[in-house]
Amino acid sequence: MTAATTEAPRCVNPMLPALVRVRDFRPETHDTFTLSLAPTATSSFQAGQFNMLYVFGIGEVPISMSSDPALAEKGIEHTIRGVGAVTNALGKLRAGDCLGVRGPFGSTWPLDAARGRDVVLVAGGIGLAPLRPAIYHLLRHRADFGRVVLLYGARTPADGLYSDELRTWAARPDFQVLTTVDRGNASWHGPVGVVTLLFAQAQFDPARAVGLMCGPEVMMRFTIREFQSRGVTDDRLYVSLERNMQCAIGLCGHCQFGPSFVCVDGPVFRYDRVQRFFNVQEA
Ligand SMILES: Cc1cc2nc3c(=O)[nH]c(=O)nc-3n(C[C@H](O)[C@H](O)[C@H](O)COP(=O)(O)OP(=O)(O)OC[C@H]3O[C@@H](n4cnc5c(N)ncnc54)[C@H](O)[C@@H]3O)c2cc1C
Repeated sequence: MTAATTEAPRCVNPMLPALVRVRDFRPETHDTFTLSLAPTATSSFQAGQFNMLYVFGIGEVPISMSSDPALAEKGIEHTIRGVGAVTNALGKLRAGDCLGVRGPFGSTWPLDAARGRDVVLVAGGIGLAPLRPAIYHLLRHRADFGRVVLLYGARTPADGLYSDELRTWAARPDFQVLTTVDRGNASWHGPVGVVTLLFAQAQFDPARAVGLMCGPEVMMRFTIREFQSRGVTDDRLYVSLERNMQCAIGLCGHCQFGPSFVCVDGPVFRYDRVQRFFNVQEA
């Protein structure tokens, strides 16, 4: 019997997609949906990682896992916003259809390093999807962590992901969930404004907090400033980055980010390690 390892297994040939069947298609918002995929030999993953999803005849895109890593042997989920050719084609798949899957790839949220600390997750829009596996882990191992706080911002109430699940999480006494929208409507009674406004109500100890962020880079820049102004040091801040990517195994160079490749060194980076490049506009 081999010793347990924390490393998620990878497919034998990382360029060869496995044929995987869609088990369920679930609309989340007007432009976002969740695909539930049948389990395969390489379903196992860790929070923060991504797969390359291939729609035959259209193309392949990187998409993070959005389901509970502890349940990966029963199948995995991807939550996808339709923005172009491949993501819109993924949105046409239904139960029983097949797609190609390569992965899992990439770095993970620092859940071991966060043990014993307060954990503050900050998400914007579709950025909640890559953080969701980390939330499942934190709640599954709740006693191992200090305070757990989620700050989530969406464009409008109708753009918010996982609204039923957010309500369930918010009802827990051990999980502070705060949401905001850029533009409210008659039925929205919560805060209106950028996600950083939620810091005023967030209950955590900056001296022992870890910050995990995923969303538009401008949102993460302002969020980093909020953390810094409260005294959270850069070595306890983590960002998940998106870059155009093709091979996902560090060969093609499409996702180069300073001296790193987002596909193998990321997508999750410790902020102090990428700070120099994070604030540089791409040409
Ligand atoms: C590691 C990683 C994880 C991701 N996880 C998710 C996820 O969980 N859910 C999700 O909906 N999306 C995710 N994305 C983004 C997703 O890969 C892109 O939306 C997708 O590649 C767009 O492909 P397309 O053919 O549909 O659109 P295209 O026609 O290729 O692009 C449509 C528009 O999106 C822009 N774009 C394309 N790729 C990217 C990118 N990687 N970053 C920023 N802008 C891009 C293009 O410049 C263009 O303006 C992730 C990206 C990365 C790198």
